[in-house]
Amino acid sequence: NKQIILRDYVSGFPKVSDMAFKTSTIQLQVPQGSKAVLVKNLYLSCDPYMRTRMKKHEFPNYVPPFTPGSVISGYGVAKVLDSGHPDFKEGDLVWGMTGWEEYSLITKPETLFKFQPTDVPLSYYTGILGMPGLSAYAGFYEVCYPKEGECVFVSAASGAVGQLVGQFAKLMGCYVVGSAGSNHKVELLKNKFGFDEAFNYKEENNLDAALKRYFPKGIDIYFENVGGKMLDAVLLNMKVHGRIAACGMISQYNLEQPEGVHNLVSVVFKRIRMQGFLVFDYFHLYPQFLDFIMKHIKEGKIVYVEDTVEGLENGPAALIGLFTGRNVGKQVVVVARE
Ligand code: NDP
Repeated sequence: NKQIILRDYVSGFPKVSDMAFKTSTIQLQVPQGSKAVLVKNLYLSCDPYMRTRMKKHEFPNYVPPFTPGSVISGYGVAKVLDSGHPDFKEGDLVWGMTGWEEYSLITKPETLFKFQPTDVPLSYYTGILGMPGLSAYAGFYEVCYPKEGECVFVSAASGAVGQLVGQFAKLMGCYVVGSAGSNHKVELLKNKFGFDEAFNYKEENNLDAALKRYFPKGIDIYFENVGGKMLDAVLLNMKVHGRIAACGMISQYNLEQPEGVHNLVSVVFKRIRMQGFLVFDYFHLYPQFLDFIMKHIKEGKIVYVEDTVEGLENGPAALIGLFTGRNVGKQVVVVARE
């Protein structure tokens, strides 16, 4: 069984060598009397929160850290090979928490979502049909309180979550601007995902001025994915009674000392509602979300861009690439196609 192991806790920017490729043996059968499920992993999801699992947590976090010397885990799409659980049988397709390895014995299969194959790619269950998709849906519709015609700004806008938030906002009739870290991503935002405007934040030496250019009357809704300097600039440009959905702050995840936010007082003066959220609190919405998103995919009203790398051994570089913006769209690792 080929596996990706975390060597030790990581400080600062993660490196490929923080993880190791290892081969071990695994019995391709569920042990007698166990309610576990044995799966063959097909597609693994690279998600920014995985970085936070690579360090010891100073305060209780919503997910425990990885164990140094052990296989890392994350969301993935898998096929059931053997099952001791009455709800699963050989051949079932599932998505949920699994190991970064070829085969995983899942001891709590209740956490897996079973799905029927359709004509959408199976890998979509790592992204648009999985955890990032639900994050975009819950974050936008449940946390932002959007209204038609409002001005929406999305950071890390071409990523797994951001590309969907922008499209949801367009469906609602909002004016939508996204920021991303390359000109190619900016093109995608405007020409593929239908954002009204987009800019490359790496080419702007004054983020405040850039935001004023696109939002002369201010921002109603900010969907926050990056934090740091961008958040500071956004705070200066929010409208009175604006809303900020704090989904993530990727610019802070590799810093030993988080950056300060200087303009937080705007929250008071502008009566901004800033709310953090975690997708884990919204899994009860998954069936409703799935109906919604499937319908829009089939009608061609929502599109999705993935960035796939082939082979488990290329997983660590793909995961780390999230922090340099190497990924264009949802980063997926292909372990096996069937
Ligand atoms: P993406 O697919 O968007 O990949 C991460 C992107 O972040 C990169 O491609 C890069 O894009 C951008 N980025 C990386 N480093 C920086 C930096 N220092 N400053 C600015 N941008 C940076 O990831 P996801 O869509 O999966 O996740 C987006 C955010 O949502 C993350 O913060 C993540 O933690 C959060 N999240 C939160 C969830 C929740 O439950 N609250 C659930 C899922 C995700 P670019 O080239 O544009 O810089």
